[in-house]
Amino acid sequence: MTRIPFLPLSDINARQAEALQAAAYRVIASGWYLRGTETAAFERKFADYIGTSHCIGVANGLDALTLIFTALKLRHQWADGDEVVVPAMTFIATAEAVERARLRPIFAEVTQEALIDPTALAARLSERTRAVCPVHLYGQMADMSAIQTFADAHGLLVVEDAAQAHGAQTATGRAGTLSTAAAFSFYPGKNLGALGDGGAVTTNDTELATLIRTLANYGAEKKYHHHYSGINSRLDEIQAAMLSVKLEKLDADNAYRRRVAAQYAAEITSPFVSLPYGGQSDSGVFHIYALRSPHRDSLQQHLSQAGIETLIHYPVPLHRQPAYSQAATQSFPVAEQIAAEELSLPIGPTLSTESVHHIAQTINSFRP
Ligand SMILES: *Cc1c(COP(=O)(O)O)cnc(C)c1O
Repeated sequence: MTRIPFLPLSDINARQAEALQAAAYRVIASGWYLRGTETAAFERKFADYIGTSHCIGVANGLDALTLIFTALKLRHQWADGDEVVVPAMTFIATAEAVERARLRPIFAEVTQEALIDPTALAARLSERTRAVCPVHLYGQMADMSAIQTFADAHGLLVVEDAAQAHGAQTATGRAGTLSTAAAFSFYPGKNLGALGDGGAVTTNDTELATLIRTLANYGAEKKYHHHYSGINSRLDEIQAAMLSVKLEKLDADNAYRRRVAAQYAAEITSPFVSLPYGGQSDSGVFHIYALRSPHRDSLQQHLSQAGIETLIHYPVPLHRQPAYSQAATQSFPVAEQIAAEELSLPIGPTLSTESVHHIAQTINSFRP
């Protein structure tokens, strides 16, 4: 029996082994490893790809978000403890970034698609609300026009967590261009993944871009002259060089992921599961193929016995995390239901048609 791994990064990167090796050796030989031409070149390419005037490479996605909130807080003179609304179902970094900027994350209910629910925002508003941070979870886009309308009506800023949505696009526009600033992660498993850590901020706001670059460089605009108390957060030259190579394949890989999703949608007929968004949608980039089942744990067991590796994104919603015990009394039934039912199937640019077929058949043979 062949094992089907969740995401075989070695196979994915092997497709570009020669180009990646050549780029790595080029950086090694250059003797210049930080804040050089590779990072500048990748920043330009990624800004052009996303469609913003600026891209600032940083150390990881958490830093990208933290730097955005810190910069907005400084510029708009928000106070410590002012509030940012985030979805109750997301990777915890969204909320941790808010806290690292000494702001307060306020959790909001999500839709059945696990996206922040625009109709749930009003109930989470207070005198101290300053921003909303939608997450394009699983690679599908949040309802940015509804969120922007709400934000405009209440004088709030919008920040996108686009860590799972490189290249996602709807009629409204592309993920990373639809808010004051957006955060991306290049964690190896993301649709555009480095061979280590990396992240980026995209924005059309030149003043904000400069402030974020300054904050990411120890708060210094000029060496040894520090306007702010900053941090050290850099996308290094080797990772930037790897990302420039991998960016070339991003659109083709995203298209392939959509085809895998369409094949799952066509072949999975089990009455014990429900399929995620798409099949029909072409805007998402399927970072995660998020199946749902009321029998999730036994289905995962069944797949595991057939050699199929699956994961859960995410088993615990933010308000049920021990780290946020002060929110434990809050109730977000949809987020809780998703946490109980979600099962992430393998999806990626090297997953074969035969493997998808085998996974679909294995799901169809499941009896709870
Ligand atoms: C991956 C991820 C992050 C954090 O990115 P890192 O590079 O791992 O710090 C933030 N938000 C979401 C939704 C993510 O999936």
